[in-house]
Amino acid sequence: MKLKVGILGATGAVGQKFVRLLENHPWFEITALAASSRSAGRTYRDAVNWVESTPIPESIAGLIVAEAKPDIECDFVFSGLDSAVATEIESAFAEAGYPVISNARNFRMENDVPLLIPEVNPDHLDLITRQERGAGGFIVTNPNCSTVGLVLALKPLHDAFGLEAVSVTTLQALSGAGYPGVASLDALGNVVPFISGEEEKLAIEPLKILGQLTADGVQNAEISISAQCNRVPVMEGHLECVSVKLKRRASAKQVAQALSSFKTPPQIQGLPTAPDSALEVLDEEDGPQPRKHVYSGNGMTVSIGRVQECAVLDVKFVVLSHNTVRGAAGGALLNAELLTRKGLLQKRNEPR
Ligand code: NAP
Repeated sequence: MKLKVGILGATGAVGQKFVRLLENHPWFEITALAASSRSAGRTYRDAVNWVESTPIPESIAGLIVAEAKPDIECDFVFSGLDSAVATEIESAFAEAGYPVISNARNFRMENDVPLLIPEVNPDHLDLITRQERGAGGFIVTNPNCSTVGLVLALKPLHDAFGLEAVSVTTLQALSGAGYPGVASLDALGNVVPFISGEEEKLAIEPLKILGQLTADGVQNAEISISAQCNRVPVMEGHLECVSVKLKRRASAKQVAQALSSFKTPPQIQGLPTAPDSALEVLDEEDGPQPRKHVYSGNGMTVSIGRVQECAVLDVKFVVLSHNTVRGAAGGALLNAELLTRKGLLQKRNEPR
């Protein structure tokens, strides 16, 4: 018996990725799709501007899109809602007793809300027991699409050497801006060195994810992070040039070794969306590249290359992660799988 899933924001870029990744999922099946009143009442096929490279799954195309109100038939919801509406709608669902697994930024930094990367901070899931939302309702979030790749790369270094400071410059794909996103005349043959709110999120979200769970919430890690974010004319995959200052000096070789020996925690191993390796360290001198490596581990493996000494900080390297898979829908799916394995997502006895 599969768990029934609703998707809020099902017509958006992230919503479409959920639809695609949930096709043939062994534990979950889509029973409800919701979006704005512009889409509600139409079949999914008519409401969506489908941008995925495979056809809309036949079983989904004819579903009628609902309004994003907490009366849809499912055991839990994924949210790919626009952040302008996510606070109100996700709260309404959680208070009505739905578990909400969200991509939106709105609740990420709340004291009682896990900001989760299953391979990094699975213990932070305990925060949901401190949430006082409706019976059975809670909110779990995944980080910003650039944060995920950065933090997966920082985690082994934080554990092995300690991190003092991080400087990161991103080259972010167009799909990260949703649909229609950046106007073609701004994007083509160009680089835009501004993504609203992105530098702030990259500077703060890693501190919570790498922080310690305490009785009062998460005590943020003490790392100085400086981020500069650029939108580049690439379809999928956020590249990040990272330099780190370590608490305990290490060579580039030791850093590469720490990265490549990173092990997925046992409670994540074998989950349907978990890649064999969360991180891969590439040997080639010109990788990672979005076109070549973005679908590593079905888009769930973060690729790292060019690990070398840094003349300003200690060591520098380049990180690539898939922004709408690992950075959004795939990351949320892995969160839901971990919640299911821990018995925190269950079938409802009563229909809604
Ligand atoms: P998007 O393509 O603009 O999609 C937004 C979705 O929200 C659409 O389904 C839209 O429905 C729905 N929506 C808008 N107003 C609504 C309302 N009043 N009531 C109900 N639904 C409404 O955006 P996206 O790129 O998929 O991003 C979705 C969320 O995930 C955002 O919060 C974003 O910050 C976050 N995120 C995105 C990425 C990425 O790489 N794209 C990565 C991580 C996180 P209609 O089609 O009916 O308007």
